Amino acid sequence: MQREILLQLSPKDAANTAAITEQVATALGISKEKVIGFYLLKKSIDARRKDILINLKIKVFIDEPFQALEQQHFLFPDVGKSEKRVVVIGAGPAGLFAALELIQQGIKPIVLERGKNVRDRRRDLAILNKEGLLNENSNYCFGEGGAGTYSDGKLYTRSTKRGNVERVLQMLVFFGADPAILYTAHPHIGTNKLPGIIQNMRQQIIDAGGEVHFNMQVTDLELKDNQIKKVVCASGEKFDGDQVILATGHSAKDIFHLLESKKILIEPKPFALGVRIEHPQALIDSIQYHCAISKERDPFLPPAAYQLVDQVNSRGVFSFCMCPGGIIATASTAQKELVVNGWSPSKRNNPYANSGMVAQVSMADAMKHTNQKLATNLLLHDFQESVERKAYEAGGGLFVAPAQRMTDFIQNKTSTSLPNNSYLRGVQSVNMKEVLPDFITKALQGAFISFGKKMKGYYTEEAILIAPESRTSSPVRIPRDETTLKHPQITNLYPCGEGAGYAGGIISAAMDGQKVANHLSYF
Ligand SMILES: Cc1cc2nc3c(=O)[nH]c(=O)nc-3n(C[C@H](O)[C@H](O)[C@H](O)COP(=O)(O)OP(=O)(O)OC[C@H]3O[C@@H](n4cnc5c(N)ncnc54)[C@H](O)[C@@H]3O)c2cc1C
Repeated sequence: MQREILLQLSPKDAANTAAITEQVATALGISKEKVIGFYLLKKSIDARRKDILINLKIKVFIDEPFQALEQQHFLFPDVGKSEKRVVVIGAGPAGLFAALELIQQGIKPIVLERGKNVRDRRRDLAILNKEGLLNENSNYCFGEGGAGTYSDGKLYTRSTKRGNVERVLQMLVFFGADPAILYTAHPHIGTNKLPGIIQNMRQQIIDAGGEVHFNMQVTDLELKDNQIKKVVCASGEKFDGDQVILATGHSAKDIFHLLESKKILIEPKPFALGVRIEHPQALIDSIQYHCAISKERDPFLPPAAYQLVDQVNSRGVFSFCMCPGGIIATASTAQKELVVNGWSPSKRNNPYANSGMVAQVSMADAMKHTNQKLATNLLLHDFQESVERKAYEAGGGLFVAPAQRMTDFIQNKTSTSLPNNSYLRGVQSVNMKEVLPDFITKALQGAFISFGKKMKGYYTEEAILIAPESRTSSPVRIPRDETTLKHPQITNLYPCGEGAGYAGGIISAAMDGQKVANHLSYF
């Protein structure tokens, strides 16, 4: 017989097979010899009370042979000679998952990626982190796997209606991710593990007869009768395909400018902007796990995370992409523009906890801030860029970042000293109000005080703000018909993923790639 049961165990017992077996037997009122085996269906932490518990949903095999949870197998037919060809611009999660889905539909994908393969890309990241020299085509956002490769790899999404989350997770496991992502409540892969998975995906595309071209920046689209005839690259090479999936991410500013210059419809899209905040991880553990800061957290618990949200004068302020045990990274894609973001390794074993803390930015805010009377398509993009330039200048160059203690930020004074932190390029003490627009400063100040009340100890001089967290989502939407998923004007163009405004993270971008590719199977 097989049964599904729910158990609540201490963190130590939840990590021990014998202890779980014993609890299963007690819960079912049977002897433990009858429990032949089990596997986890769901695992989450209940940290509401002092005694922290782990919730487990378990499938148990009683008195019958155990069958391990089957991992899904995916078949990829040979599409090398297929007459149906689709050009996929961008090899981020949206582009890669679109390409794999196309292959499953018998269509040959031709993936064009401006950046380098993951291995060469890693060298450019090392140069950026050590010397402050940025390669505009190979960085934390651009290159094989897109912004997803050297990201945190948190796989949690609220966009469950946008597609099949389970299918994306299964595919990640198929390409090498830890099967635990299938049952943990907040799955996480880690920056060190993602590149291998991405490489396996690329190899599968090539093995199935698809094409992947690196160092292939798309710079133009040749149009005729509202159709893309050729996709033109910086190298001079031209590619043609029946259809074109545009999955270039939220940092492909040149693509937004290209579309605007060719009068291909784009729209401004509200986004959110603010800072990255970093605390000692031990402090966040002590708040979330109700333990003394001097005492290490239970070794059977992971570094604690948090999620915060508030409204300050009707403006939403929220934590974004929280990285326990993480690092703050330079996520810039252009010279003299500073952008920060966060990632963490699979073990999340760095001594800091960082998170984006951002306030909503509307079109009206951007118009007021820039004194513009006209609501242009690139207005929010220009607003974002102006903050990134200001931050670069304030840091003093080479991607050193402006920073301030949280308490000084509230009191509007420049910090005389700064706490140790994880940002590799170094920080410069600055009064953030010189970098951030006034409405963002005020919203964040109000929110931090409120967050300090929600999480006692969060508002502290030990916390440092590093700016700007400005690429939370795309400031531009590339419209599409929600039935055909085609651009309303260019009939063989399929805007896709985060850059087009249809995703906000790895999983939602991957699902959007699959969704677009599935529509294409009917042409
Ligand atoms: C440091 C960091 C940490 C993150 N952590 C997480 C996380 O933990 N969880 C999460 O869900 N999300 C995270 N994100 C966000 C996540 O990575 C993105 O939401 C996701 O990658 C978007 O996927 P995409 O395919 O739409 O676009 P992208 O990943 O941005 O991919 C777009 C690709 O297009 C390429 N490209 C751009 N322009 C051109 C051109 N002209 N020609 C050819 N190619 C081009 C780029 O080089 C890039 O490879 C993080 C991002 C960063 C930067």
